[in-house]
Formats: sequence, C-alpha cells, structure tokens
Amino acid sequence: MNILTVKDGHCTECYSCIRVCPVKAIKMAAGRIEILDERCIYCGRCFVTCTKGSISLGDDLDRALGLLSSGRKTVAILAPEYLASFYPMNTAQVLFLVERAGFYSCEDTILGEEMVARHYLRHFAGQTETPVIRSTCPAATSWIEKYYPALAGKLAPVATPMVAQARLVKKLYGDDVAVVYATPCIAAKYEAKLTDEVDAVLTFDDFKQLLRIRFLQTQGDLAVKDEPKPAIRRRYSVPGGFPRPTIAQHSMLDPALMVVRGISDIEGLAAAIERGEIGAKFIDILTCNGCIDGPAIDTKLGIHRRKQVTERAYKDGLVKASRQLTFDQLEPYLPKIETYKSFTGKQVELPLPDDEALRRILAEGEKHMPQDELDCGACGYDTCREEAVAIYQGIADWSMCFPFQRKVYMRIIKQLQETAVTDGLTGVANHKSFIERLGVEFNRAQRYGSELSLMMVDIDTFKSINDTHGHLAGDETLKTIAKTIKDNIRQSDFAARFGGDEFALILPETDVIKAQRVGEKLRRRVEAMSIRVGADTTINVSLSIGLSSINKNMQDPLSLVKRADEALYDAKKAGRNRMVVAVDEPVEQA
Ligand code: GH3
Ligand code: MG
Repeated sequence: MNILTVKDGHCTECYSCIRVCPVKAIKMAAGRIEILDERCIYCGRCFVTCTKGSISLGDDLDRALGLLSSGRKTVAILAPEYLASFYPMNTAQVLFLVERAGFYSCEDTILGEEMVARHYLRHFAGQTETPVIRSTCPAATSWIEKYYPALAGKLAPVATPMVAQARLVKKLYGDDVAVVYATPCIAAKYEAKLTDEVDAVLTFDDFKQLLRIRFLQTQGDLAVKDEPKPAIRRRYSVPGGFPRPTIAQHSMLDPALMVVRGISDIEGLAAAIERGEIGAKFIDILTCNGCIDGPAIDTKLGIHRRKQVTERAYKDGLVKASRQLTFDQLEPYLPKIETYKSFTGKQVELPLPDDEALRRILAEGEKHMPQDELDCGACGYDTCREEAVAIYQGIADWSMCFPFQRKVYMRIIKQLQETAVTDGLTGVANHKSFIERLGVEFNRAQRYGSELSLMMVDIDTFKSINDTHGHLAGDETLKTIAKTIKDNIRQSDFAARFGGDEFALILPETDVIKAQRVGEKLRRRVEAMSIRVGADTTINVSLSIGLSSINKNMQDPLSLVKRADEALYDAKKAGRNRMVVAVDEPVEQA
C-alpha cells in the first residue's frame, strides 16, 4: 500500500507541497514530484495543500470492498470524528448504514482509548525520568524517531487507540476477522502499514464511497432505524486517549503538563528538550490540531462546530442510551490486549555539502554574491542555501528557482530575437531584416528629403573558391568579407547578407558621391587582402559593386535594389573587380 501517491503528468510545479513539508521529503525532478518514503512522516500537509489534486492517498477502498465481498467477517472501526464527518446523521443512523453495507460490526474507538489511557497512567506513575512525551499521532512519533532520535526514548511506549481497538476487536470476534479503520488522519495509514492489526485504512470520504458502492451492489433498503444502543462512559480518557486523571491533577496552566500542537512548535520543543530547558513532566504532542482537524477531514463544518457536534453526540448518546456502562464495569469481561509499543530512533541520514560544494552549486544557480541569494521561497525552500543543499542531496534543481529561470528565459528570448534577424554564418543582418530596414530608411529619406544609397556587393568568381579549396574555405571567405564590410562602414550604415555571396549595404544620409567613396575604399581593401584559410592556404578575392541612390521619382524601396542589382550586373559584365553606379545618377569626376 502506498500512502501518498503522485499522479503522473498532473503536477503544475507550484512547489506548495515542498513549501509546507516540514521535513522536505519531496523530490522534484524533471517536472515530476516523488514522495520520499524514508524521509516522510505522513503528516498529510502536502496532500491538503495540493489544490490540483496531484497527490492522492493510496486508497484502500478496493481492498476494503474486496474484504466485504469475500465473505470474510469484516469489522469497521470509526475514529470518533466520524460524528462531525457524517453530521447531521447520528450515531445510530451511521451504525445502521455501516452494518447494512455488510460489515459484521461497527465500532468506535472508545474502549481502545480507555485502555490506552490506563496504560499512560501506569507509565506516568512509574516514571522518574521526565519529561515523558505522549502522542497518539503517528506523524508526531515518526517525526521524533526520524529527526530527533535521541528523544525516542522519552516517548511513552503506548500503542494508539486505533491499534488497541483493532486488537480488542480481533480478540472479541476472532483472529480471522478483518478490520477496516475510517479516520481523518493520514498518518494512521502509515501506522497500519507498520502493524498487522488493521487491514485497510480509509478516509471518511472513501468510507462513504464504500457505503455508496455497497448499497448499489446490494440494492440495500436505505430506511434507517434510530435505536439507541448501550453507551460507554469515558472514565480514563478524553477523545484521543489522553488520560483524564492527568488533566484533573494538572490544570492546563500547570507547568508540569505541556500541550504542543503543530510541527513548528514541536520542532522548537524538541530542540528545547535537547538543551534541557523543559521543566514539564508530561508533554502531549500532535502535528495538527487533533484529528478533528485532521488532513483528511471531509466536512464543510468549521473546526469549532465539528468539536461541538462530536461532544454533543457523546453527551446526547449517553442521555438517550438505554443503558450506560463504564469501562470499569466492562473491563472484567473484556479480553486482555497488548497496549505496549516501543519507539526507537531511526535517524534519517542526510548528506550535507562542504563549503566548496555549496559554493559551486550556488554558482550554478548564478548566486555568486550574498545579494544574489534572494531567499524568496518560490522554490519551496526558505533560503537559496537550503535549496542548494537539496540540490546536493539530489532532490531539487535550479529549474525550481523562478528568479534564476527568469534570467535564463530572458537570455534565450534575446538570443532568439537576435537569431531571427542575423545571418548565422557571417553575423551580419539577414535578408529579412535588410528588407525591413530598407523600408524604414527609404520612408525616412522620402519624408525628410534626405539622401540614401544602396550598394549590392558580390564576391567575384566565388564558386571557384568552393571548388578549389572546399566549402569551409568558402565559408571563411564569406565571414572575412562580412567583417571587412562592417569595419569599413559607419555605425549608422547597415550591412546585410542578401544571399549566397552577395551583400547589401544601406547607407543613410549618404549621397551617391560619398557612397562611391565608401564602395571604392571597400573594393580596394578586399583586392589587397589575403584571406588565410587553414595552416598554409591564402585566398585572394575581389568584389563587384552596384550602387544606386534615392531620387525624387522613386516610389518603392525595391526600385533601389533593382537599380543597384542592374549596376552590379554591369560591373560583372565589364570584367568584375569594379564598381558601377546606376545610370542617370551623377558620378564623381576622377
Ligand atoms: P560571379 O563572379 O559571377 O559572382 O561568380 P560566382 O562564382 O561568385 O557566382 P555564382 O553565383 O556562380 O556562385 C556563388 C556561389 O556561392 C555558389 C554557391 O554554392 C556559393 N555559396 C552560396 N552560399 C554559400 C555559403 O554559405 N557558403 C559557401 N561556402 N558557399 C556558398
Ligand atoms: Mg559571386
């Protein structure tokens, strides 16, 4: 039986489960969470906090249904909070329904609680070494065993009311009887896993589901009798099995008696006991506010109303009951059962990084300086260092760090934006951004009547470079030419790879005369250049250039391209390694 299971592909990575987990027993890897059994104390906080329902309780519903339909005698034990869960139904109505669903008997835990309370009283009386820690909460005892093993010896060695009641049921109805326990406590599932006493543990929600299924299966008559049964008076225990006489002897203000609720308070308490700061003789601990507020409680009633309903039901039950029995009256007729349970330290070994490893991990998350550690808690860990430790332990990674991920995404977006406008080989602008830029510059020049020139630059007989020296040498040549072009134009000019071995240069605020000078300078520089490719190969290339400039008659930026292209064609035709200016544009006199 898995107590807490994770649904595949369901997690939205909000990390709220990690945030609320007091022992950080949740591993996050590649968008998938995993609950680490060896670390978990089954307090159920992750289950409650996961509003997406990605964490579910490994339910025993099928198992319980199987027991019922197998014909095996099956007894239901209901934790006392059933009264709040089934409200407004009363005890008699619930018992009736449970028995009609095919259970051999339906019990609550009062006798188990009374037996357990008696055991506590005996233990407290004989105990010289204090404080004695008492808890019927398996999450609390498991937490001490795993995380404060030195305190395990201080836990009163007493079984829970669930186990005591289950043992009693087996003694009363025979060892072969199966036991199904319904509870709002998730840790009870863990406890049942450790003992053989209980065959299935269901939340109240699952238990109601079981009743519905059984009625559909058996077409049961749902008419409900309301017959009071004999009621058992509490003598030794309050609900949950706390010894009543201990409360009577010690007021809640009495420093000898301490009641601690909630994980964070227990954590402080454990540390204080270890430091010898606690004067109390008896300490009662629970990881939540008691089972009435347990993680799997399934009613919309508020906590105070739940308490009221439960208390009133016990009182009314006693008033209405045809007979009232005390535990002392019953005890001589009850079989003897074992209520002893031993607790031992089960230290969870957590590897810790040394300073160097921690620094390296923090650096991987780009936390180089103390101010880089935001401790925002978005990843589920309180501090960046705690997350770094979790990364070291292999249960987290920096993809959980929102500020870091944001930086990474912004960088990627920037890169993608650059890639979209840049030619991958040469690093100058690509054809698409050339067309866009030409449109912008053309409109600007037209609006303000300013100059604009365009040059189409093509490498002469470039194909022969590929053919003679290979494509890689051709690529190197293209890169060198692109760089040379960029080095020889102004910042405000714009160079792009038009395609193949052809480049386009936009020269804003530049008339044909000035543009001609730029083109000639570039042509001469390339002509004089030896391009080194590989260890001992140098290549000489030349450029042909077609130049056009804006004039009043031009309506369309592409006519600039067309004219420059025609001029380039003329340059090739005239023997290459030269610049030709598009006709009807003034030419500088040599
Ligand atoms: P011309 O003087 O008439 O311009 O002759 P050319 O050989 O330069 O012209 P042509 O158009 O015949 O050849 C251009 C070559 O450029 C053909 C093509 O394989 C090569 N080329 C285009 N893009 C690349 C590239 O990215 N890398 C390499 N190595 N070669 C390329
Ligand atoms: Mg060419």
